[in-house]
Amino acid sequence: MVLIMNNEMTYKKLVDVYEALDATTKRLEKTSILAEFLESLDVETLPIVTLLALGRVFPTWSEEELGIGAKLLMKAIATIVGVNIEDVEDEMRDAGDVGLAAEELFRNRRQQTFFSKPLTVNMVYNNLRKIAGISGSRAQSRKMEILKELFSSASPLEAKYIARTVLEELRVGVGDGTIKDAVAEAFNVQKEVVERAHMLTNDIGLVAKVAMREGEAGLGKLTLEPGKPVKPMLAQLSEDIKTSIMDMGWAICETKYDGIRVQIHKKGDEILIFTRRLENIGLAVPDIREYIEQSLPSQDFVVEGEIIVTEEGKPISFQYILQRIRRKYEIERMREEVPLTLYLFDVLYYDKPLIDTPFERRRKILESIVKIKKDKLELSTKVKVTSENIEEAEKLFNMSIEKGHEGIMIKDPYAPYIPGIRGKKMLKYKAEPETLDLVVVGGTYGKGKRAHFIGSYLVAVKDEDDNLKTIAHVATGLDDKTLFELSAKVQKLVIKRVGRQVEAKPKIVLEVAYSEIVKSPEYESGYSLRFPVLKGIREDKSVDDIDTVDRIESMFKS
Ligand code: AMP
Repeated sequence: MVLIMNNEMTYKKLVDVYEALDATTKRLEKTSILAEFLESLDVETLPIVTLLALGRVFPTWSEEELGIGAKLLMKAIATIVGVNIEDVEDEMRDAGDVGLAAEELFRNRRQQTFFSKPLTVNMVYNNLRKIAGISGSRAQSRKMEILKELFSSASPLEAKYIARTVLEELRVGVGDGTIKDAVAEAFNVQKEVVERAHMLTNDIGLVAKVAMREGEAGLGKLTLEPGKPVKPMLAQLSEDIKTSIMDMGWAICETKYDGIRVQIHKKGDEILIFTRRLENIGLAVPDIREYIEQSLPSQDFVVEGEIIVTEEGKPISFQYILQRIRRKYEIERMREEVPLTLYLFDVLYYDKPLIDTPFERRRKILESIVKIKKDKLELSTKVKVTSENIEEAEKLFNMSIEKGHEGIMIKDPYAPYIPGIRGKKMLKYKAEPETLDLVVVGGTYGKGKRAHFIGSYLVAVKDEDDNLKTIAHVATGLDDKTLFELSAKVQKLVIKRVGRQVEAKPKIVLEVAYSEIVKSPEYESGYSLRFPVLKGIREDKSVDDIDTVDRIESMFKS
């Protein structure tokens, strides 16, 4: 184990902050606690703490993951504490949380260590990162060794937070919003400036470091870089094609494809393909990487598009694409079975960042750099529409629907690229009624023959502070096979069970259709859905992408 340097921050200090954060539910208090702590750190420890405060070891978009299951963690705890794994399991069931269980077991530990070096933030962080890097033969036992080493020097409280960090459920109520506000408060910079810098880099550690060293001036210089994904610009719903176009003055209308949104980065020899969750799926779609290599220039760029699955020229259900993007094995076979088409519609970087360049110009640049490969890599079909030729937009809509697509996009030609925002500069007009993206926070096991399945899912939206608020129970809509898969997925995320009811870690996003939004005191959001129907599991979306109470409110009003 690394020797502790004189001035290295101890892990205990961070743990004290975790405890203080846990002791309040007030967002402003949490922000101040964190801000004060961030301000006290040196510039090397600062980025590490911003990640650890979110319960992460890697940025969201990193491909690296810890890959430690609950079983391995419990085994490590059992060995260090000197009990059987069954005892750890019992404790976990009683406490309903791995952290509390670890804390309790460490307090009653039989094998007390008489001499142990204090853990530092760096040791915890570096060892966890080391774990992620381990693969190949004996990976599990090598991971176990590192875990044991960490736990052997841990106090009960330290064990609580190491265990939670390892399973990625820190539970101190700090989200992206709080940490960004804390950085602003700590280094006396405007929230909006932090927000923008974070949108463009998605690297809170870097943002914090620059805020500390260079203040607002430095943050203002941070911009999009190939290799680091940005949150995609999102679309609002258009109520009426004509009004939307008239409001914009004139518009670029495009076919809306129903697949998954990808942001493709070329950096040196590397091609990275990110989903809207900022996950890199490049390895699963070698065909798309190949088309990109053949159709785009060799210099660095960032482009965006939609990948869809087609069968004899017609797009087929969105769900098929999920068989491709998550795949680790048999990629070549699937490539034949489920062929993909990429429709590019935007460029964010070419020679330089283009996010402040008006959309019309960006589209021209895109057209000038792409060599089209029919049915493989194409540009989204577009028309320019003014008040003089509104019927062109309607024609495009009808043609798009006839071809099996979803509808059209209506885009403001003068708009910059605005990452992460669902604004009025890009609108969507669809044939099918609107659906909602909701996260599963719990569920209910069935009865009788279905006692082993979660049959009904409690789903939630988020408020402006990213707190989850329930809105409905969804039980119908999926075929048995998909329901079975969903149940298995949610079972793995269960954190508490009382009778047939379970509470689950909020990870799985469902697309839900409904007949009406109604006011309801029964759910935390204050609203509920009439006749909610499951349309699919949105594996390309994360809890960051779910719908908000605000949106529900405005949809209810309209
Ligand atoms: P929605 O997911 O319903 O909010 O609709 C917006 C999404 O439509 C975007 O995030 C893209 O994934 C997708 N999309 C399909 N075709 C286009 C297009 N031509 N331009 C922009 N987005 C598109």
